[in-house]
Amino acid sequence: MMDLIRSDVRDIVRALDRADFKGKIALVTGGAGFLGSWLCDVLIELGARVYCVDNFASGRWENISHLASEENFVFIEHDVSKPLEIKEKLDYIFHFASRASPFEFEHYPLEIIDANTLGTRNMLELARKNDARFIFASTSEIYGQPDVVPTPETYWGYVNPIGIRSCYDESKRLGETITMAYHRQYGVDVRIVRIFNTYGPRMRADGVYGRVVPRFISQALNREPITVFGDGSQTRSFCYVTDLITGVLKFAVLENGNGEVVNLGNPREVSILELAHIIKKLTNSDSPIEFHPLPPDDPPRRCPDISKAQKLLNWKPKVELEEGLKKTIEWYKGEI
Ligand code: NAD
Ligand code: UDP
Repeated sequence: MMDLIRSDVRDIVRALDRADFKGKIALVTGGAGFLGSWLCDVLIELGARVYCVDNFASGRWENISHLASEENFVFIEHDVSKPLEIKEKLDYIFHFASRASPFEFEHYPLEIIDANTLGTRNMLELARKNDARFIFASTSEIYGQPDVVPTPETYWGYVNPIGIRSCYDESKRLGETITMAYHRQYGVDVRIVRIFNTYGPRMRADGVYGRVVPRFISQALNREPITVFGDGSQTRSFCYVTDLITGVLKFAVLENGNGEVVNLGNPREVSILELAHIIKKLTNSDSPIEFHPLPPDDPPRRCPDISKAQKLLNWKPKVELEEGLKKTIEWYKGEI
């Protein structure tokens, strides 16, 4: 593991109570992906035993290879849309398996739907059998194109059910529904995290599938044009990965979190054009900014209302955008 990630993992560990996870058994689906691999790192560091499940749809072995020698780390190559059994009794299931990049929505809609619906049901079944706590990685996308920004958890969403993004939005919405159905019908302890745009080391920058932050960073570092879609006035709110993972784990251990849904993200809203300029500056790049057509249904604004997380979890993001981007840029320099 690179020093930068190691020191970030230690920061997260300091913000949490080791006693909550020591000796516990956790299963992380999507564990070879961006967020899942950070969860695995932190859980191992906290003394948990970790089952990491992934089919490498969008994850990479390199994200977790450093954990292979850990006695408490078990990797299972498996597609979550098929049922899964584990011999040991699980305490926590973090269901994070799903492709999450808009470019993938176009090419893998059915796989995405399966991971968030069948996959969610299979993992809930496992939670029910194990009397384990279930944490579902939902998304700000379930709000669609909200009329209320910053958006609170009480907003129901405004989503195009047949649009290009619907395989993701609607399957996450059904994933939430299945999660609440298991809670109501079988009494499973469930928690739903609505994650807003998160970035950091290990987010894929390769080829066409990257999200905006790694794409702009690799374009800037390679002195290629930075591709802004539309006029760049659409906004997003970017959370550094350490803040997000801290929030997820605080929520997972919360005494009175059963059946709750919480937004996690950074409330600083920036336009995509502004992001392009910040990344250009931080990388000292002379890349030109190039404008391309805006993809259909691209949400014009996205920003979380995090007052519930602040109150319930005593949590708020600590890492400023520029600081998080600097770390991310350092990491990508090592990758390129
Ligand atoms: P990622 O693509 O890096 O990770 C997803 C992981 O899930 C990959 O390792 C992939 O191989 C695995 N996977 C996909 N389908 C699978 C299947 N059927 N069976 C087993 N494994 C499968 O993406 P990420 O950014 O780490 O996202 C993780 C989760 O967080 C996703 O559920 C995503 O929807 C959610 N989320 C992420 C963000 C973000 O900004 N990063 C925002 C909102 C929600
Ligand atoms: N975007 C962009 N150029 C790119 C990639 C993305 O302008 O090369 C824009 C995209 O249109 C969206 C925002 O950046 O408005 C965030 O895109 P991302 O793919 O990270 O995911 P989203 O937040 O849309 O789910």
